[in-house]
Amino acid sequence: MRPRRVIVAGAGLAGSLLAILLGRQGHEVVVVERRPDPREGPAEGGRSINLAISTRGLWALGRAGLAESVLERAVPMRGRMLHARDGRTRFVPYGIRPDECIHSVSRAGLNRLLVEHAGRIPGVGFRFSCKVVDVDLDAPALVCEDGAGGTGRVAGDLLVGADGAFSRVRRAMARRPRFDVSQAWLAHGYRELTIPPAEGGGFRLEPNALHIWPRGEQMMIALPNHDGSFTATLFWPFEGPLSFDAAGTDAASIRARFERDYPDAVPHLTRLVEEFRENPIGSLVTIRCGPWHHRDRVVLVGDACHAVVPFYGQGANAAFESAGVLADLFARHDEPGEVFARYTQARKRHADALADLALANFDEMRDRVRSPLFLLEKKLGTLAHRLFGRAFLPLYTMVTFTRIPYADAVARARRQARLVRRAAAAAVVLLLAAGAWAVFGIR
Ligand SMILES: Cc1cc2nc3c(=O)[nH]c(=O)nc-3n(C[C@H](O)[C@H](O)[C@H](O)COP(=O)(O)OP(=O)(O)OC[C@H]3O[C@@H](n4cnc5c(N)ncnc54)[C@H](O)[C@@H]3O)c2cc1C
Repeated sequence: MRPRRVIVAGAGLAGSLLAILLGRQGHEVVVVERRPDPREGPAEGGRSINLAISTRGLWALGRAGLAESVLERAVPMRGRMLHARDGRTRFVPYGIRPDECIHSVSRAGLNRLLVEHAGRIPGVGFRFSCKVVDVDLDAPALVCEDGAGGTGRVAGDLLVGADGAFSRVRRAMARRPRFDVSQAWLAHGYRELTIPPAEGGGFRLEPNALHIWPRGEQMMIALPNHDGSFTATLFWPFEGPLSFDAAGTDAASIRARFERDYPDAVPHLTRLVEEFRENPIGSLVTIRCGPWHHRDRVVLVGDACHAVVPFYGQGANAAFESAGVLADLFARHDEPGEVFARYTQARKRHADALADLALANFDEMRDRVRSPLFLLEKKLGTLAHRLFGRAFLPLYTMVTFTRIPYADAVARARRQARLVRRAAAAAVVLLLAAGAWAVFGIR
């Protein structure tokens, strides 16, 4: 596309990656972000969040020349480490090859890296501490408020809404006819806790794993950080006897809840009571909407159009992948209307499939991983993959270690499951026939 002036709302993961990719194509990019400049200060407390980045995210980061830099800052996780209530652990690998691992990386650190990189590209500029308060879709333009109460208008040829799950840009599009949107809240929220490095340095738990304490209705997970610490996240219901409120606020009842549910983690949660009291509870939402563009002026990317719950570790990966696909279409076509329509067509169906996968994986992580049937299924899937190679790919492998579009991966997994069921049925029939022949056929 010939150079345009592109306004991006949101300097989060998708917005700053897209700024790099479009800036490198020669577009003038202005990114408007309500938060302060991440290059100038520390991350917000209690919301450090580390992310599992995998093949899709790395593909898009590679487009910006940043995959290696991200991997240098990441800790590889080769499988799930399941913690039973009695403290026993079991490791379930994610894949069969050494490179089939996911990478734990600090979200704030990743965002800073992207902003630093984008800031060095001529033609890319940021306006931090500048909150979008209104959107003119047809101009297109953003009305922004700076920290001091002043307002201003930022206009361009094109507008990208990369302003996250509660996108202002999407909200403006939703006021127009023929724009569908649905927002579904999870009944569980999340709160972060910290497992610091061991005294004298090093990790307190196995570093190359995503730790899960699955407890049915609720769970805790922990992802490793480069400095030897882990970020633990509780996923507890908002209501009922297992809720955050039900744990109380006094030290004894908080400790009692953790001693009951995660006894082996308690010695490592050195600031448990303070962090449990002070850290905010986040909500989790699924957003489905469409079309992802308004005429040939405005387009959405990342959580703004496809926020998913975090249980497949794919939200940021999908946001990066969408930014990469959109940037590639910018490079190939000159008409913004054509780019946007092709982009919606290429991505929307698959983002909806991911939303379903992410919800289903919550049940798997907090509950099904405890069942012997789950472990058997994983073993059989791995065995079939070892025997048949790329002809049989487990669903997790397709989603996490390939770029097979999400809905196609789901369809293929269903076909594979049907084949396995038929093969199992055929094996049973053959065995019965062989048995019958042995008993009645040989005289
Ligand atoms: C607990 C948790 C764990 C997760 N774990 C994983 C994981 O392991 N792997 C994975 O791939 N994904 C994970 N995710 C999902 C991932 O964080 C998101 O999908 C990803 O951040 C989306 O990127 P984005 O740029 O679209 O949105 P965001 O990162 O939310 O960025 C949006 C930006 O827009 C800005 N903004 C919003 N409103 C305005 C406004 N009015 N004016 C100006 N700026 C505005 C925000 O400040 C923000 O900087 C997790 C999410 C959560 C909550």
